[in-house]
Amino acid sequence: MFPALTMQFTDSHAHLADDKVFPDVEGVVARATAAGVTAIVSVATGTDDARTCIQLAERFPGVYATAGIHPHRAAEYDEDAIRDIRLLLDDARVVAVGETGLDYHYDFSPRDVQRASFARHLELSRETGKPTIVHSREADEDMRALLREAGQGTVGVLHSFSSGRALLEEAMAMGWYVSFSGMVTFKKYEGADFVRMVPADRILVETDTPYLAPVPHRGKQNEPAFVSHTAARCAELRGEDPAEFAARTVENARRFYSLR
Ligand SMILES: [Zn+2]
Repeated sequence: MFPALTMQFTDSHAHLADDKVFPDVEGVVARATAAGVTAIVSVATGTDDARTCIQLAERFPGVYATAGIHPHRAAEYDEDAIRDIRLLLDDARVVAVGETGLDYHYDFSPRDVQRASFARHLELSRETGKPTIVHSREADEDMRALLREAGQGTVGVLHSFSSGRALLEEAMAMGWYVSFSGMVTFKKYEGADFVRMVPADRILVETDTPYLAPVPHRGKQNEPAFVSHTAARCAELRGEDPAEFAARTVENARRFYSLR
């Protein structure tokens, strides 16, 4: 009847606790709900906003939290912080470890500290059985090495994927997931092959709110309601039916994050 209205989505990665988003979080969640977004994973960048994410998960049905230290903030990583994160991971509303990873583009934290923090987060994932959310930018070689050395026995997602083929193949061989963001809608997007390479049961979509708003909202502040544009573009690139693809990404996110 009205398939566009009944389509459902999950935003597998949004920063609802971000200063730019939080003041209007009520509106952001309401607009997402109106757009068919039935689940939003609100991703932490440190122990402070992990607590805010948990409060949001308490406040809004369909919102879930994570706990971890973003590579930009890896300088904050020490055993005290890890102990905090480990305690937060005991909360049922916290569905993943992260986001963690490596960012050699900005280098906001020393690279050796980023690597140590990331390896420690992978240990937490193994210990708790909760998956890891991984940010990787211009660090393909070290990321592959760390996945091989420290990623065994865990499952994770390479989020807002913008890396190269070898890293994608490594992650696929390990049974990991890959999440695509609004970048896939950009005119000069060069990763179409990568969108097609990910098996149907391991692809996710996300906004990475407040960053990287998809076309036709490019330049605006991103929000979970816009995830439909990313899902539609991924479906188009893969030659799949948009409604079926959207439903599959909802199911993949539910399985990956053990959402209920
Ligand atoms: Zn993020």
